[in-house]
Amino acid sequence: MGRRRRQKVRRRPQKRIPDVYPCPSCGNTAVKIELYRDNGLATVKCGSCQLEKSITSINTLTEAVDVYGDFIDIFYQSRKVEV
Ligand SMILES: [Zn+2]
Repeated sequence: MGRRRRQKVRRRPQKRIPDVYPCPSCGNTAVKIELYRDNGLATVKCGSCQLEKSITSINTLTEAVDVYGDFIDIFYQSRKVEV
């Protein structure tokens, strides 16, 4: 069987947006976002400093990135209030 085996089939996993994000509090890329679209809720949690926030402005079109943006906003807002 002298078949050419030139074709390298490299199955690349589709490049997705990573599900860990940099944490605004501790700076580690350990923030995980979980979307619960059915409940209109998302949780954002840093695995490094245990910072945790719930985002409740979720709809069917919301992506983790959007949640992350909200999370950042909330984080800095709450910081302003506390400081
Ligand atoms: Zn953190």
